[in-house]
Amino acid sequence: MALMTGEQYVESMRKLNMQVYMFGKKIECPVDDPILRPSLNSVKMTYDLAQLPEYQDLMTAVSPYTGKRVNRFTHIHQSTQDLMNKVKMQRLLGQKTAACFQRCVGMDAFNAVFSTTYDIDKKYGTTYHENFKKFLLNVQELDYTVDGAMTDPKGDRGLAPHAQADPDLFLHVVERRPDGIVVRGAKAHQTGFINSHEVIVMPTMAMGEDDKDYAVAFSCPTDAEGIFMIVGRQSCDTRKLEGAEMDTGNPTFGGMEALVIFDDVFIPNDRIYLNGEFEFAGVLVERFAGYHRQSYGGCKVGVGDVLIGAAAVAADYNGCPKVSHIKDKIIEMQHLNETLFACGIACSALGTKTESGNYLIDLLLANVCKQNVTRFPYEIVRLAEDIAGGLMVTAPSEKDLRDPKIGPYVDKYLRGVASVSTENRLKILRLIENLSLGTAAVGYRTESMHGAGSPQAQRIMISRQGNLRMKKALAKEIAHIKE
Ligand SMILES: Cc1cc2nc3c(=O)[nH]c(=O)nc-3n(C[C@H](O)[C@H](O)[C@H](O)COP(=O)(O)OP(=O)(O)OC[C@H]3O[C@@H](n4cnc5c(N)ncnc54)[C@H](O)[C@@H]3O)c2cc1C
Repeated sequence: MALMTGEQYVESMRKLNMQVYMFGKKIECPVDDPILRPSLNSVKMTYDLAQLPEYQDLMTAVSPYTGKRVNRFTHIHQSTQDLMNKVKMQRLLGQKTAACFQRCVGMDAFNAVFSTTYDIDKKYGTTYHENFKKFLLNVQELDYTVDGAMTDPKGDRGLAPHAQADPDLFLHVVERRPDGIVVRGAKAHQTGFINSHEVIVMPTMAMGEDDKDYAVAFSCPTDAEGIFMIVGRQSCDTRKLEGAEMDTGNPTFGGMEALVIFDDVFIPNDRIYLNGEFEFAGVLVERFAGYHRQSYGGCKVGVGDVLIGAAAVAADYNGCPKVSHIKDKIIEMQHLNETLFACGIACSALGTKTESGNYLIDLLLANVCKQNVTRFPYEIVRLAEDIAGGLMVTAPSEKDLRDPKIGPYVDKYLRGVASVSTENRLKILRLIENLSLGTAAVGYRTESMHGAGSPQAQRIMISRQGNLRMKKALAKEIAHIKE
């Protein structure tokens, strides 16, 4: 198969027997659920665009293992060009969906697990790398979407996994059998789990010997026995049930997160990629986080492009696109957005080959990229809200606009420039609301803050990678200091 069409992807998701809960009820068919469907549509776009000749270079790559063309989301980076193409692809998808398209976590997990399993096998003579490659080839052949599950609920943040009051607050091995392991725990904030065929589970942080049972990585189907998921609420999510498209801001696309429970799930030996080699937990986390921090220099930039465009359209409809401070604010939004892109491209361009053969981003620059992502989208949103005006949060509903009695008043009094319909003005303001405060704000704002690690996690990496000793030596040499 190698490349699925968007429709084939949707049909493949229907065949899964996932245990999904939302609003206290089991969802029988997540694919057709009006709250969840927009998030599936975003993932579908990763398949749709891969079919188009004009996007072939960005959306696909040739697998070095099979010689077949595969979706870039299942690719193992072979060069710095691959790393840069990844970021450009993510920007494109952000532009096309204005939402989180969810498939990056799996791609980032593939590349981190690929090099880390190679290193573990080298030290311990295990077969994790071969196990992983077998899984990867199957994913490439079937063009699967794979969730990347790292974040544990973590309970008391001041305590190590083994020291928690409840031992299940970090996912761990509860039984070792000749044919595999049984795992128990949960993974929080799982982006796109419901829209994925498989999941790669990784530890959430560096671990010591006492946490051996928590140092575990594996893959399994998302509908494996013992897995169930509880969908996270998003601001304004039930607007999707009201039958008023305009009020959602982005009627077609969205993102989703879930709390995923692993209630004694059996993992066969050939799906295990780390099992007790605790000193590699930190290596795996650092590499996954590095790739994921690079990702944000693409996806958030693409969504930012849509928000900047929406703010400029709102200024047009308000009748003040040429006012100097509005023009300057839009320039500032573009400057911030392109700075994020520059960081994503820079950490890719300076990537290096690992011993396993794939390419790793420059970790310092990837962390700088994500640190900026924890700030700039907030400023971009602030400027968009400034330009949009208060109506983006006080406008009446689409049903009021359509009402025969009050609709004409809404139409009359909420018009901006006379040449543009009130309907179009409200549509663009709803899109800005969606990106700033509504369902997409999960992906554009809070995910920018915490996704791939909260800001402090990057600052720790910057302090480790920043080589302050070398910088002090430079200063002493210039100042002719001899100690
Ligand atoms: C929208 C969204 C999507 C996400 N998608 C995924 C996904 O697909 N897969 C996945 O695995 N994860 C995902 N994440 C999880 C993300 O990686 C975490 O949110 C992040 O690592 C922070 O963890 P937390 O949310 O538990 O925050 P917390 O750990 O509760 O952090 C809150 C604050 O406490 C500080 N803090 C926490 N512990 C300590 C400590 N020991 N010492 C000092 N300060 C501390 C943090 O720096 C932060 O300021 C997603 C998150 C979001 C918001």
